[in-house]
Amino acid sequence: MQGAATSSTASPVLEASPKLLLIGGKWQAAQSGETIETRNPSTGEIVGHFQSGKAADVDLAVAAARAAFEGHWSKTTPFQRQELLLKWAHLIDAHFEELTWLDVLEMGVPISVALTRRQRVIGMIRFYAGLATALHGETIDNSMPGEFSSFTLKEPLGVVGAIIPWNGPLVAAVWKIAPALATGCTMVLKPSEEASLTVIRLAELLQEAGMPDGVLNVVTGYGHEAGAALAAHKDVDKIAFTGSTATGRRLVEASAGNFKRLSLELGGKSPNIVFADANFETAVPGAAMAVFANTGQICSAGTRLFVEAPIYEEFCARVAEFGRKLVVGNSASAETQVGPLVSTRQLEVVQRYFDAGAREGAVALSGGERLYGAQFENGNFVAPTVFTHVRDDMAIAREEIFGPVISALPFSNMEEVVARANASEFGLGSGVWTQNLGTAHKMARAMRAGVVWINCYQAGDPAVPFGGYKESGYGRESGIEHMHEFLQTKSVWINLNG
Ligand code: NAD
Repeated sequence: MQGAATSSTASPVLEASPKLLLIGGKWQAAQSGETIETRNPSTGEIVGHFQSGKAADVDLAVAAARAAFEGHWSKTTPFQRQELLLKWAHLIDAHFEELTWLDVLEMGVPISVALTRRQRVIGMIRFYAGLATALHGETIDNSMPGEFSSFTLKEPLGVVGAIIPWNGPLVAAVWKIAPALATGCTMVLKPSEEASLTVIRLAELLQEAGMPDGVLNVVTGYGHEAGAALAAHKDVDKIAFTGSTATGRRLVEASAGNFKRLSLELGGKSPNIVFADANFETAVPGAAMAVFANTGQICSAGTRLFVEAPIYEEFCARVAEFGRKLVVGNSASAETQVGPLVSTRQLEVVQRYFDAGAREGAVALSGGERLYGAQFENGNFVAPTVFTHVRDDMAIAREEIFGPVISALPFSNMEEVVARANASEFGLGSGVWTQNLGTAHKMARAMRAGVVWINCYQAGDPAVPFGGYKESGYGRESGIEHMHEFLQTKSVWINLNG
């Protein structure tokens, strides 16, 4: 039987009044007068309301971001930008529990997990605060050294529209805001309609840290309204997007109007490959949590579990057993390891894949169903699931499910598994479990994915780039490469004899 969470830790009481848009330093209602309610996916209770911003609000926010960019922010010194970001990091540190509770109540990440993200969030801001003072162009030795001197300048792109999903609002928002502001760009941020409260609180803290008006603007609202208006806006220089591949495709079309730059962090169906010589003690929990963490709602989740044939049955049984022992329940409970799915819509999606798997002949070794019972009432809970007898052509082996569902596939040798693992339109994460150094190195080069984790999964650091190949998007987050996503290069020529 699935483990269940019982005791609760105290969660904050949220304000009843709807949260406002932040435009040009002022908190204001959407012009439509409409709001969106947000519900706790563990209980179905309403946890708050925020504005339903639309094109008219986006216009105001972009104008404010443009004024802030031209007026002062692009002319600030790196030290000034660094100072603001470090003060913000300090305030986030001081309010970290409050921020994590917003993520817990709005999108359902377990509190025990959310609290472990402190270093990740604060470390990321400090990393980009540091890099603000390390950006530089180059002096280039051209072929006419007696006649011309040439060098490059790195300049901020301008107004950035950032659009983020719901599956980790705190991390996703900081990941966009910190590098963009560090370069001297200003931003209009549109959080997900499923989870906006954390982002609003982050913006309040940035104001408290001394952010000049208009540097960060927040327009909450629906994707097809506020998001689409931002993506198509003629005065936005770049869209930094994290979300589904389907939406990413729309943004590419919308960018054509003014050839705005794009960075796209999109979906995945990542292979996680276990060789027969893998250490079971680490590979079993590694394979399980590569998918069950965040209830499978992670873009790079290792959902296609390839297991070498001689160990397939035993390994899959151990992963299923691991999944059955995980404590699923209310995210507010300190014991919970796996929370609910974010929404009833997402619950329906995952249930459809349960049905599709069964219909196509896969066998649910564990899970494969919604969880019922008093402790799951009104919440969007499903059991961590391991499907065996999966074929590569099944929907559960090809499509992103965004739920705690492992599709386990046997393989015979390295050449075969490389071909099958790479035969996907996605290319975000990938995992390899082996004790053979040669296998590890060969696989690292063979995978067509932006990240290869060997004997680990989901390791991350602000200094190490993250992003996708193929239809998982383009551009990189983290690392110095991320800063360059917000910069453009200007070449300067000086006639030495003039
Ligand atoms: P989504 O694409 O539905 O929505 C993402 C954001 O885009 C939301 O803010 C939404 O309001 C907005 N949006 C929707 N339609 C839009 C439009 N027409 N124009 C402009 N904006 C629009 O994705 P989601 O369901 O919120 O998130 C889940 C998806 O995000 C998954 O596919 C997941 O893999 C992906 N994701 C990727 C990464 C990554 O780093 N690669 C990280 C997290 C999530």
